Amino acid sequence: MNPDGPASGSSFGTLKDRVIDKGLCMLCHGCVASCPVDAIEAIGERIHLTGECIECGTCYRVCPGRGYDFAKAKDRIFGRREKGIRERIHGVHLSGKNLRSSDEEVFRAGYMGGRVSTVLIHALEEGLIDAALTTDWGEGPVLSVGSGRICRDRASVLECSSSKYLFSPVLTLLKEAHRDPEIGRIAVVGLPCHIQALRNMQSDRMASRYTEKVVYALSLNCGAPNLTDENWRSVIGRIMEVSGEGISSVDIRKVKGRTLRFRVRMKDGTESVRDRPLSAYIRMIHGYPGWPRCDLCIDYSGELSDITFGNPLARTEKGKDLLDGAVKAGKLVPASKGQAISQTAIDIYGYLLKKVGAKRRIKRRRRKGEPHPEYRC
Ligand SMILES: Cc1cc2nc3c(=O)[nH]c(=O)nc-3n(C[C@H](O)[C@H](O)[C@H](O)COP(=O)(O)OP(=O)(O)OC[C@H]3O[C@@H](n4cnc5c(N)ncnc54)[C@H](O)[C@@H]3O)c2cc1C
Repeated sequence: MNPDGPASGSSFGTLKDRVIDKGLCMLCHGCVASCPVDAIEAIGERIHLTGECIECGTCYRVCPGRGYDFAKAKDRIFGRREKGIRERIHGVHLSGKNLRSSDEEVFRAGYMGGRVSTVLIHALEEGLIDAALTTDWGEGPVLSVGSGRICRDRASVLECSSSKYLFSPVLTLLKEAHRDPEIGRIAVVGLPCHIQALRNMQSDRMASRYTEKVVYALSLNCGAPNLTDENWRSVIGRIMEVSGEGISSVDIRKVKGRTLRFRVRMKDGTESVRDRPLSAYIRMIHGYPGWPRCDLCIDYSGELSDITFGNPLARTEKGKDLLDGAVKAGKLVPASKGQAISQTAIDIYGYLLKKVGAKRRIKRRRRKGEPHPEYRC
């Protein structure tokens, strides 16, 4: 589904030359997830060839970094393009609802009402899926990359609730799920770049075997560019009043209302905990330059998903059935009017930032002859 057509005769070298070395990698890990001989690894914030490339071209074909043919993808997934102003902002969808979890534990654990976690728990409890692929805080030396988790029950879904402004290797779990005979059907939760790569994998002759078990592709809205490890350390260091370089791990959870609890372990073994308002944290993140490729991404609302969160938007029939099922079971209930209004304001900001702003930035780069992604909408 890449705009310049199939990549015959391409190899990891092609991906490296045309995407990675040009600063167009989104770090979605789609190439790692798709390589049939497990020859590609993400080491920190960079993708490397660590085994022998068989020159199948899969990594290059599934990569959303160099651009995307959204028009073709929408025709395939939805059988149509956007109609009217609402869909031009939010993408193709069948229904949109302002919802929150009715379960107080899930509501508290979630970032914006626990809607994603509620839907996952509902799907697990109803036997619609056997596992959900989600993202947890990282454990590695690079703080800006989270870790993927295969969740099979309510407890593990709740452990992974809440937003992490991190790169996620969630797609790399597809191979593990593919090989696990006890897993039949899965839901994947990702950012728009993950869902783009996943859709490429689903339509790819080589990579589609790893996605056969995926029944739901759930996206988060994404208007916050991820930070590099250096900047992420600086943010956490400033919040905790510790040296960013000395941090070995970070864990941030919502404790009540709009308050987050930051738990930071230092390389010398000490640990500190501090509660801070969500708004101060978001403001601080926006004060840093983002990952450059995120600034060129036009997909704010995961337009190729089955359901996108923000205010949940069901895009496909099966996404709508899942969401309606959680509502009918009383697990998702209407959220406050205040939340709907603030979400609308956030969505307009996200639309301007990505669908309008990123398109302008791409145009500027094209004019200057600088590397840029090509999109077809
Ligand atoms: C980087 C980033 C930027 C965002 N930008 C916006 C925005 O501009 N506007 C907006 O309306 N919403 C944005 N969101 C989404 C928002 O923060 C909430 O995640 C969303 O509304 C769902 O909230 P919830 O309480 O229903 O989810 P929860 O029940 O808390 O569940 C969240 C789910 O997301 C998964 N997850 C967390 N972090 C990541 C990650 N980095 N990559 C992949 N999966 C992850 C978790 O594992 C969990 O399953 C962003 C989220 C992220 C991670």
